[in-house]
Amino acid sequence: MIREYHRPESIEQAVDLFRKHQGRACYMGGGAQINAPDSGAGCDCAVSLAGLGLESIATGRDDVIIGACATLQSVADHPDMPQALREAAGFLRSRHMRNQHTVGGDIAARKHDSFTAAALMALQATVQTADQGEMSVEEYVSGTSDALILSVTVPAQGKRRCALFRQNRSQRGPLLMNMAVGRDTDGDNPVIAVSGAGIGLTRLPETEALLASGADTEQIARQAASEIAPTGHWLGSDDYFRHLCGAAAAHCIGQHA
Ligand SMILES: Cc1cc2nc3c(=O)[nH]c(=O)nc-3n(C[C@H](O)[C@H](O)[C@H](O)COP(=O)(O)OP(=O)(O)OC[C@H]3O[C@@H](n4cnc5c(N)ncnc54)[C@H](O)[C@@H]3O)c2cc1C
Repeated sequence: MIREYHRPESIEQAVDLFRKHQGRACYMGGGAQINAPDSGAGCDCAVSLAGLGLESIATGRDDVIIGACATLQSVADHPDMPQALREAAGFLRSRHMRNQHTVGGDIAARKHDSFTAAALMALQATVQTADQGEMSVEEYVSGTSDALILSVTVPAQGKRRCALFRQNRSQRGPLLMNMAVGRDTDGDNPVIAVSGAGIGLTRLPETEALLASGADTEQIARQAASEIAPTGHWLGSDDYFRHLCGAAAAHCIGQHA
């Protein structure tokens, strides 16, 4: 439960407050996660980011810079955003939630069922932080950094292709499989980001290598199915999740064609 609330007016103040209360402080973007009773966030001191002016989205020639406090709804609505990212942000099931969740909070929460984080990884997006420089979204999500994210840089529309697959048990039900496959426009630098029930957000490097080598869709689907590591989940058998992963890869590659 949040017992202490700070509303800093500068980035320096925010980082100082966070470090001063290290271990019990958390940054508050939209607050969806840290206020959820079952979040396990373990923080009782909120450092609000609301007064820092981090909501804007700026479009350049080669990239789009998204403020960490831009909401998923504003990403889904933005005409200059890569189409796959708009779609991924829109997957979060209600407008109310999309209006609350921020891009920075979505990345920092490191949720396995984040469609946005998978799409950002496939797009090779980077985060700019206040206290630990710049790093890829993948590094942030797979690491333990608690740096304050200021912005996220994604390639401009048309600079990188990205296709998505997602399957939930039902419209509001838990995630079964989530995949984003990104490639440069010439087909180079493939990134496959995948997560699912009992499967943390990860990449499939061997399937990526096969994709780069020009292998056909069937081979790639087989490799993807064998490369994920299901851990046994009540939502389905390991064989089922492997099958779903292969189908996801085939679907995404079909979208690129
Ligand atoms: C009902 C409900 C449903 C949800 N459904 C989903 C879902 O379908 N998919 C999914 O991925 N997640 C889901 N979540 C989890 C979570 O709410 C989001 O992933 C995301 O964290 C919400 O963004 P926020 O801005 O509200 O985060 P907050 O709650 O403000 O913060 C979340 C975490 O990120 C940190 N943080 C926030 N902003 C920054 C920043 N700029 N820099 C560094 N750290 C920061 C905070 O310290 C905290 O640890 C759900 C949560 C709830 C309550």
